[in-house]
Amino acid sequence: MRKIAVLGSTGSIGTQALSVIREHGDLQVEALTCRGNLSLLEEQIREFRPKTVCVGDEKAAMELKGRIGDLSGMKICFGREGLIEAAAETDADLVLTAIVGMVGVEPTIHAIEAGKDIALANKETLVTAGHIIMPLAKEKGVKILPVDSEHSAIFQCLQGNEGNRIKKILLTASGGPFFGKTRKELERVTLEDALKHPNWSMGKKITVDSSTMVNKGLEVLEATHLFGVTLREIQVVIQPKSIIHSMVEYEDGAVMAQLGTPDMRLPIQYALYYPARLSLSGDRLDFRVLKEITFDEPDEETFPGLSFAREAGEKGGNMPTIFNAANEYAVGRFLEGRISFLQIYEMIRSAMDNVPFKNEAALNDILETEQETYEYLRNAKVS
Ligand code: NAD
Ligand code: MG
Repeated sequence: MRKIAVLGSTGSIGTQALSVIREHGDLQVEALTCRGNLSLLEEQIREFRPKTVCVGDEKAAMELKGRIGDLSGMKICFGREGLIEAAAETDADLVLTAIVGMVGVEPTIHAIEAGKDIALANKETLVTAGHIIMPLAKEKGVKILPVDSEHSAIFQCLQGNEGNRIKKILLTASGGPFFGKTRKELERVTLEDALKHPNWSMGKKITVDSSTMVNKGLEVLEATHLFGVTLREIQVVIQPKSIIHSMVEYEDGAVMAQLGTPDMRLPIQYALYYPARLSLSGDRLDFRVLKEITFDEPDEETFPGLSFAREAGEKGGNMPTIFNAANEYAVGRFLEGRISFLQIYEMIRSAMDNVPFKNEAALNDILETEQETYEYLRNAKVS
């Protein structure tokens, strides 16, 4: 039986992955990790019986021990080291990285070093460390299987086309809840408004990222690493209903697309069982009801999330880390109600202009830059 470790098991991707695993019943869950939400973790432990679990800190580990004292033989760990252990030191063949943020960088690198295939949802990891991860995966003969719906769509469009050059990637975007709004209107939007995504139900951080278009920016950078294309070879296309999950144009002009209802279980399942296509319950597209699919262009002036990302990607070095870490910090403050929507952009701009740039971005530079960016924003006037 194939064995899997699920990092971030209590989150939006983590719970949907466990529902896929439950539906097929032929994957052994070796490890589960989360930061908080111990009651859900406890349920998951009782159902899937992992050998290793990891929680955020020692206090949570003690509480969990109190809750599940009757399960012998299960290892409970916590924090940074615990996460690395759950990712790399179990018998899992495959690791699903469904934690949020660049805290995923180190466990992902360790899992690859241990020879485990990666089902990658955690885009912040590739954005900041893709230049380390992709060559390392190649060296270790490890597969990086995309879970992000757009990247899964692109990956699906590439099947059977080995050896054919990609002319262009057409990365689709819903535009988020604020598509069409003016900058003036954005001055008044609230956290509650930002958390209302039109098509997808996701974790809070990515939902806010979708409303700023930073998510699409992160996805553009993610795609350069996953598919070896340049920034210029990626065009973002607004497709408000999220029916086309992305497209690939080849040199003969053929455009391949992957379509489906907005349901993350499909890309999750494709990554877990690649290259097999197993059955999946749920709604199907009905073109008689759908009738039309419309397209638009992104408004990069009002929503600079995308242009910041391109700028960070062009500059290279530690700039994608500065961009990503500033966004993680700013979104954290926005979720706490401490800054306004537009201040997210101000913080990112300010960090990209002021945190020291480094051409080299080895792992220690990436982690250092993350701390420097946090430190800078804590003291900066924008907050
Ligand atoms: P979420 O907030 O719903 O869940 C995050 C999970 O990670 C939880 O289990 C949480 O306990 C854990 N976690 C959070 N911070 C942690 C930390 N510091 N240390 C250890 N564990 C921590 O997030 P999500 O929406 O499931 O997203 C997960 C990742 O997948 C993100 O990188 C996101 O961009 C990406 N993604 C999500 C979706 C989606 O539909 N939700 C789609 C595409 C990509
Ligand atoms: Mg996506």
